[in-house]
Amino acid sequence: DGLPAHDAAVMRGHDQAYGAVAAVVGVARPIDLARSVLEDGRHCLLVGPGALRFARRVGHPIVDPSVFWTDRSRSAWRARKAHIEAHGWDDARQPWNPGEASPAVESPATTGNTVGAVVRTADGRTAAATSTGGLMMRYAGRVGDTSVAGAGTYARDDLGAMSATGHGETMMRTVFAFAALTELAGAPDATAGLRAQLDRATGLTGGRGGAIAILADGRVIHARNTRAMGTAWQTEGGPLHTAFLPD
Ligand code: ASP
Repeated sequence: DGLPAHDAAVMRGHDQAYGAVAAVVGVARPIDLARSVLEDGRHCLLVGPGALRFARRVGHPIVDPSVFWTDRSRSAWRARKAHIEAHGWDDARQPWNPGEASPAVESPATTGNTVGAVVRTADGRTAAATSTGGLMMRYAGRVGDTSVAGAGTYARDDLGAMSATGHGETMMRTVFAFAALTELAGAPDATAGLRAQLDRATGLTGGRGGAIAILADGRVIHARNTRAMGTAWQTEGGPLHTAFLPD
């Protein structure tokens, strides 16, 4: 339908508090609304018209969804739509299909919209947050991994915090963030371990993905088998490290 929509989630590792919104249209700052859901505390995940009503109730701005289009994303979407109109719908060519012809995980024009953050305080408290515009050409009503606890976003102080990106169906099917954090606790080479977890998960589906994490012992790790992923990390008082990780 050409409407940009967002999934977003935030989790606090100390008490496993969780707040998320999914498939929301016109929410100005989806991650802030997810945080309001967490702070409200009654529910974990709001969707659809109820999420917008909650947004209005907590004073969260609702905007015209067209503000989320960029020239690049709009022209990529138009090109896809024109292709479908001319040649028909072909599942294998859609971004949510993780097979060979999977432009959403291959083309910079249709990726790069997911932002994740993880943090650990000096006294060991953790949190994770993820926000995304999801995959282009997905079915209306599709929800990805981002707002599913344990799949795209997870924090538990004794394990660490993780935020994932990439093919959401892969991350959901493997409960990626929770499973990976569990496997990585105490692993001697956590970066290699995370990459192995990604390869194992995406090997099941043909999708691709990436993740950032801070472990309970303070190690900062990131890995991906997508074509590119930008990361930045910093310890208090230390230098800011950044890396754009293209092939
Ligand atoms: N994981 C997101 C989703 O499947 C998309 C992404 O991270 O690029 O909705």
